[in-house]
Amino acid sequence: MAGTQRYLAALGSNMRLPGVGGPRHVLDEAIRRIEDSGARVEKRSRTISSRPIGPSSRTYANGAAQIASPLDPPRFLALLQGIERDLGRTRRGAPWRARTIDLDIVLWGGGTWHSDRLIIPHPRFRERLFVLSPSAEIAPHWRDPDSNLTTRQLFARLTRSHPLPRCAPWSGP
Ligand code: ADP
Ligand code: MG
Repeated sequence: MAGTQRYLAALGSNMRLPGVGGPRHVLDEAIRRIEDSGARVEKRSRTISSRPIGPSSRTYANGAAQIASPLDPPRFLALLQGIERDLGRTRRGAPWRARTIDLDIVLWGGGTWHSDRLIIPHPRFRERLFVLSPSAEIAPHWRDPDSNLTTRQLFARLTRSHPLPRCAPWSGP
């Protein structure tokens, strides 16, 4: 699979990382690492905060990025998972704790991908406001090959049934 691949990736974090900062900074750090890998971040959304309901839940930082990379989908997923793992480690080098960041492939310029470990479009992105809101901001005309709807249309469909979306521009630490 030669040439440049284009991806729409979703980023999410709800944890503070020692040496990096709060969830918003964890997202910034992930973007930096994606760029350091040789990929090109062509567009990046604003960081939104989504406040899940529940006593122990913390505020999430979410965002999306359009990324150009020479890697095919399995290798690009491996890159994202490597960054997830690296950012999940503490500075003292302790092994895997809780995951501090979630990096997903939402859409791919090549259409669909189906394997045991990777499904594109991401199976749950159509129901996730915190994915669709930043995706529609940077890639409103990108079409979901399964529903044939654009991210903007998918976002509109979801917000119509949720008139008060629990998403707002980031206001946390
Ligand atoms: P979610 O992203 O829905 O919160 P997880 O991040 O815990 O769930 O899911 C991780 C698993 O999902 C990984 O093992 C990965 O192989 C699989 N997966 C399948 N499709 C995708 C995709 N499009 N992007 C990221 N992970 C995917
Ligand atoms: Mg994931």
